[in-house]
Amino acid sequence: MQNPKNLARFFFATLLILAMTACATRQTTPSSSLRLYAFNCGSIDVLDISIFQPGIGKGEHKTLTNSCYLVTHPKGSLLWDTGLSDELVKTPEGITFMDAFVLRSTRTLASQLNEIGYKSETIKYLGISHMHGDHVGNVNLFPRATLLMQKEEYDAAFGSEPGKYGFDPATYSTLRSNPLQTLEGDYDVFGDGTVIIKRMLGHTPGHQALYVKLPKSGNILLSGDLVHYTDNWVHKRVPVFNFDKEQSVKTMEDTEKFLKENHAVLWIQHDLEQNAGIKHAPAYYD
Ligand SMILES: [Zn+2]
Repeated sequence: MQNPKNLARFFFATLLILAMTACATRQTTPSSSLRLYAFNCGSIDVLDISIFQPGIGKGEHKTLTNSCYLVTHPKGSLLWDTGLSDELVKTPEGITFMDAFVLRSTRTLASQLNEIGYKSETIKYLGISHMHGDHVGNVNLFPRATLLMQKEEYDAAFGSEPGKYGFDPATYSTLRSNPLQTLEGDYDVFGDGTVIIKRMLGHTPGHQALYVKLPKSGNILLSGDLVHYTDNWVHKRVPVFNFDKEQSVKTMEDTEKFLKENHAVLWIQHDLEQNAGIKHAPAYYD
């Protein structure tokens, strides 16, 4: 007969392993219900903030955060923006870009997806607000996802003068091979009105935002770069590098009406202070 102490040890060890397995399974099973996850996708130190608010704050620094999001749905998943490149985590001091920005990242998007049970190849749709480098940094991780993009943005990005719009084709060259669905207006991604790409032109030729209607957490609009921080939203200021200034103002005004009519909140993707109050993955909104 076995020693009762050894039996007890064996019993508890087995229980422990079962508990750990259950815990691990819970953490890594992808969700099939409607959820919104927020990820930290880097930060941007702006060396002269007046480029975002012409004539104001010349020479002053301001730090912007950089966000990307995953929407899970019974019919599949949508990644919204891909942030700065995961390669940046190898350079903790950051990389200076165009003498205007210092770009940093402390966590990879891949690891944050992994933590909630997602591998990049399982993402069904890739929604990119626009083609600037801080939004397309990791598109190469998602070659199988169907790209959902306004036609004007796609044409500008892959046309003859991408630099005219602040686009660098080297940062998104893999997108040329992705399955593609070009859009010419708002688009209901899963066909049930819960996840809608909103055409919001001005920042770039085919800029878009993402509207998510959650049963418990309410209606949330992910801004893209409709606006970069709250003070500019309040004063409807337009950065010097926007594609179309008048259109940018009109889009902001229209969006303000839309938010009021739909009792929706605006999550400004680059707003450091607002972002600090948002739950990040593995927590989620549903
Ligand atoms: Zn941006």
